[in-house]
Amino acid sequence: MTAQLIDGKKISEQILQKLAGRVQQRLDNQLRRPCLAVVLVGEDPASAVYVRNKKRACETIGFESRSYELPTQTSESELLALIDEMNADKGVDGILVQLPLPKHINGQLVLERIVPHKDVDGFHPYNVGRLAVKMPLMRPCTPKGVMTLLEAYQIDVAGKKAVVVGASNIVGRPQALELLLARATVTVCHSATQNLAQEVAAADIVVVGVGQPNFVEGEWIKPGAIVIDVGINRLENGQLCGDVAFANARERAAMITPVPGGVGPMTIASLMENTLQAAELHDAQLN
Ligand code: NDP
Repeated sequence: MTAQLIDGKKISEQILQKLAGRVQQRLDNQLRRPCLAVVLVGEDPASAVYVRNKKRACETIGFESRSYELPTQTSESELLALIDEMNADKGVDGILVQLPLPKHINGQLVLERIVPHKDVDGFHPYNVGRLAVKMPLMRPCTPKGVMTLLEAYQIDVAGKKAVVVGASNIVGRPQALELLLARATVTVCHSATQNLAQEVAAADIVVVGVGQPNFVEGEWIKPGAIVIDVGINRLENGQLCGDVAFANARERAAMITPVPGGVGPMTIASLMENTLQAAELHDAQLN
């Protein structure tokens, strides 16, 4: 069996197109364009690419985007003061601070400073907590994008055995909460997990976010499983690859996401959806 590819690029483009239509409706109704403020501290090249892609997506669908590119030596208090300013700014709907931050800045403090209804990344403990208690508000973008993909391909999650490999705050943990909300039976694996291969082999749906190329071996995949690869790794030859040994896994899975072109574009689409949602929440507060 050769797995069907799950085309995140196509689905994300459809979402962006719908969002562009909703921006036009807002303008027709004399409402503002949603505005996303993106903060980048320092010169990490991968972060610069992510920020550029986010700004480009805003432009494509007619959102306003503001960007703050700050030097590496920016102090924590300067960054917190900027966030306070954006929190109070009626023209800003969503605030995104690109991670990772330089070591002298406490990232958690910064994320917690963003008011939860402008936290379009969904990383504030308030938003993570809401997801945990079945009352999602701003949903973390990458796991939300994965759920949108599953839905777009009519993959029924309820009652399935889902295994999440990786338990970070931005990928694995919120992914487990999303899958639980969708009524999967969820197992979360991390670096202390024993018999990882055995855990993965039991999965109807496996979502992998570890950050190591070809980490999940094709032979571990249960025949007919759905494989979602969140990993983005750059190899020495410059090519991008995921965390799953794609070619071998594709021979066993029923459906699989490619890297690139799978989860990556969905993360940006979710960010844009969250920014529109933030604008709608903001309208309600302003009225
Ligand atoms: P982190 O390094 O923060 O987390 C990695 C996770 O993998 C941790 O939970 C860690 O476990 C777990 N892990 C490490 N080694 C093992 C092991 N041997 N067995 C099982 N689990 C292990 O990475 P991120 O979550 O930030 O990112 C993961 C990947 O996803 C990266 O490739 C990143 O580039 C990509 N990514 C892609 C996005 C997209 O839009 N497609 C968005 C965000 C990330 P422990 O908790 O025990 O340390």
